[in-house]
Amino acid sequence: MICYFDNNATTAMDKDLAEQMLSLCTEEYGNPNSIHSMGIKANKMLEEARLRVARILMADPREIFFTSSATESINWVLRSCISFRGKRKKVVTSAIEHKAVLNTLKDLKNTHEIDVVEIKPGRDGIIDSGKMLEMVDEETFLVSLMAVNNVTGSIQPFEEVGKALRSRGVLYHVDAVQAIGKCPFTPAEAFCDFASFSAHKFHGPKGVGITYVKRGAPIRAVVTGGGQEKALRSGTQNVPGIVVSSIAMERAVDSMEAITAKLKGLKERLKLEVERIGGVVNTAERSVANTLNVSFPGVKSEVLANALSTDGVYVGISSACSSRNDSGQYVLDNMGLEAAIASSSLRISMSKFTTVEELEILVERLKKSVSLLKF
Ligand code: PLP
Repeated sequence: MICYFDNNATTAMDKDLAEQMLSLCTEEYGNPNSIHSMGIKANKMLEEARLRVARILMADPREIFFTSSATESINWVLRSCISFRGKRKKVVTSAIEHKAVLNTLKDLKNTHEIDVVEIKPGRDGIIDSGKMLEMVDEETFLVSLMAVNNVTGSIQPFEEVGKALRSRGVLYHVDAVQAIGKCPFTPAEAFCDFASFSAHKFHGPKGVGITYVKRGAPIRAVVTGGGQEKALRSGTQNVPGIVVSSIAMERAVDSMEAITAKLKGLKERLKLEVERIGGVVNTAERSVANTLNVSFPGVKSEVLANALSTDGVYVGISSACSSRNDSGQYVLDNMGLEAAIASSSLRISMSKFTTVEELEILVERLKKSVSLLKF
């Protein structure tokens, strides 16, 4: 039996959506840009998917663009913003963003001589909106903040920051990758110009990103070519992936309340069990229900995760979307956690498929491994 607790890295698809994707790949596989009837049909499905995503996000379909990943969406937005900065040279972000944001800004800093201010969170892993806004001045052209942190599950003050930035003439991007199906998110309530999403985090397939671009917000193409997506993101659209991603997104948002209620119960139980085994909880109260970051001081994360893995239990030790040796430990370090805590942390992330039985197996294997490995 597989006990999968790494859903912030990626999620399983619903079987019916995987089957639908297979039939779109093998039977209705037209290119949405072809003019014959197979192309027209594919284009119709693509536009229906765009409409579905727009409806879920309470946005206009003209504000929705499809990409190959959230990483691409983030690169597109941040790199495009450079062209609209005029003489301004400052970007304000948080020190706990995903590397897709931090490394893109690092690259832009090297190539465009911009200043990047990274705000550190408190010990609870949450950014102080006041502290962030204090750094926004007339030199600032962009603020980028995540909605939910992928390592701890902490919910960031993305709405407060957006509200305060209205009428400040500063572009605002929200990395909403870990929010869909876990906490309410609409671009209107976030007051953002841009938002990035990733289908494989909400039971969609890998390789589909969604970018929200507010009507009238300045944007330019970074990927140029055949002129797809209103010439803003060229490349033939992944219609099978996009169609099922839009349905997966709808299911995730529609079932959010029920899933959250179930996962809250599991998370509370897990917290108690972790503390009973001598573990420390690193995730704040203000967090999504599916994620619990915990540490077992004296046991290295990789060693414990490997021991669990040989027992069929899969947990995360960092941000699994970055390369294997680039751990998400920087998030815990930036929270000011002691090295012994940061280096022994596990990210346990659940999904709608997680069962009580799986949780019981996780706890039992954790108990066994921690007592064996602790020195
Ligand atoms: N942003 C956050 C918060 C993430 O958790 C991830 C993946 O872990 C990404 C961005 C990148 O998403 P993708 O895998 O679609 O490139």
